[in-house]
Amino acid sequence: MAERTLAIIKPDALKSRYAGKILQRIDEAGFTIRAMRLLNLSKKEAEGFYAVHRERPFFASLTTFMSSGPVIVMALEAPDAVKKWRTLMGATDPAKADAGTLRKEFGASIENNATHGSDAPETATFELGYFFTGMELAR
Ligand code: GDP
Repeated sequence: MAERTLAIIKPDALKSRYAGKILQRIDEAGFTIRAMRLLNLSKKEAEGFYAVHRERPFFASLTTFMSSGPVIVMALEAPDAVKKWRTLMGATDPAKADAGTLRKEFGASIENNATHGSDAPETATFELGYFFTGMELAR
């Protein structure tokens, strides 16, 4: 059965003009884009999104980065979408990511790593609801 995940093209990737290439990889991998928006997160909105990480040492830096420029948020659909998108993204640290993954190809550092993906179906439900209304996700 089709599943949905929340994907983000992060500010570093947009600044480097990788958005088009990343969207092409999403299409080629067989995901259906069910919802998509470009937005500028405020620091507070980034903090709310990453609330589970608030105790991590990199929380302040991460939320400053995520509010440093526009992001593209998307609801991606595919069988096993959560795992499939994380596999396409690769490891958090681009230096450790497998060849051919998005983070290997487009990520600059462990923080500026080009893309985000939900880490479990329950997380995806929260994250999709953070950015999209029920009406947008009904499509
Ligand atoms: P993900 O699920 O692969 O995105 O990784 P995490 O949930 O562990 O971390 C969330 C995001 O925080 C990552 O995508 C990075 O942008 C950032 N991040 C993770 N680990 C570090 C770190 O050690 N230092 C810094 N500065 N940022 C990090």
